[in-house]
Amino acid sequence: MGMRIRLTDEVRYLIRRLTLAGYGAWAVGGCVRDGILGREIHDWDVCTSAKPLEIMRVFEAEKVVPTGLKHGTLTVIIAGAAIETTTLRTDGDYSDHRRPESVRFVDELSLDLARRDFTINAMAYNDEEGLIDIFGGVDDIGGGVIKCVGNARERFGQDALRILRAARFSSQLDFTIEASTGEAAYDMRFDLNYISRERVLAEMVKLLEGKANARAARENAAIISAALGVESIDVSWKRLEADAPVAFALILADKAVNAVRSLKADNRTISRVKSLCEIMDRPVPNTPYQALTLLKDAENDAAVEDLMRVWACRNVKFNEDVIISAMSKCHRVKDLAVNGNDLAAMGYTGKAVADALRALLNLVISGEAENTREALVRISSASRQYPREDAKNDEDMTRRLV
Ligand code: ATP
Ligand code: MG
Repeated sequence: MGMRIRLTDEVRYLIRRLTLAGYGAWAVGGCVRDGILGREIHDWDVCTSAKPLEIMRVFEAEKVVPTGLKHGTLTVIIAGAAIETTTLRTDGDYSDHRRPESVRFVDELSLDLARRDFTINAMAYNDEEGLIDIFGGVDDIGGGVIKCVGNARERFGQDALRILRAARFSSQLDFTIEASTGEAAYDMRFDLNYISRERVLAEMVKLLEGKANARAARENAAIISAALGVESIDVSWKRLEADAPVAFALILADKAVNAVRSLKADNRTISRVKSLCEIMDRPVPNTPYQALTLLKDAENDAAVEDLMRVWACRNVKFNEDVIISAMSKCHRVKDLAVNGNDLAAMGYTGKAVADALRALLNLVISGEAENTREALVRISSASRQYPREDAKNDEDMTRRLV
């Protein structure tokens, strides 16, 4: 027999139990594709001719979670491993460009494979029958091709998310998109407006973090722009960091924060993009003073680390050592040898406390003051008697302090 895929013990057991009960059962979709490619398999999907209640009966003794009962998906837990087990089905009519109005359970594996998006994702496998590849998935894996099962326009018309998934798999696998699939994806790209922002985000993150992310982003710039609802994306970089927040900043520049916000990214991602974008247009620091000033102005040091990644992707030369060594020196108010309480004890009140701390920080960064308690107390007590209300900004305060 042909190709063999190494099933896990739990998947082999699950398939055998269903088969012994008289049903057909196969590993299917992404796990089969990744098994053939020799990629790491992160989750296993099994499809079976058993109906949901029949699956539950077969696994009466195991834990079964009704993940998506209506669509025929149950999660069966075998020895701690969660395996999504789905009844063979074909999709009814699509009316919202995303989900079929109904699904119909069927007995034919081929009908279930035919509803799947790409040929490489439409294969099934079990140890008894070997690989079942009706649509030429193995050939397309060999040729490195993403190709719709059936007519691309029809398939994208049913579910527009597939348009972005094509670009995503092209990035993750370093495959090219077959011509008619690519043309349909391009022509129908604005249908991505129908897709929920969360789904777009999930596919975008996988695309941006794929091994061929730079090529995929460049070749699918129009599709990505449509998915994100922007006029165009920036593809002028040489390389694309495989880390979504940095990559979003690279392709979207000043539109990045709005974009990730509207994709409903989590707060950590949004604030990372925001912190990076705030300093994206800063000149490259060449001196310790410039590096300290950049770090001071950045929301946090991680933002400057992200900025170095941006420079590297843009082939901008920078002196990493200057920045790294500045990171370990005082560049934030909290690094100062005095704090707000110290200044309050000296008679500073209200806004003057924060102003004085910032002024001290500027003096330390410029090398005019040593970051010791003694030195900073001396400077701040000497200037305490001067009026500070009219100090308009940091520089003004700094002048008054020295
Ligand atoms: P990943 O490694 O990211 O999990 P995957 O191929 O397993 O990739 P999933 O989104 O987990 O992708 O979907 C599992 C399978 O379900 C796919 O391999 C494909 O056969 C099918 N599938 C998923 N989404 C769609 C869709 N939008 N249209 C048609 N078939 C789909
Ligand atoms: Mg999967």
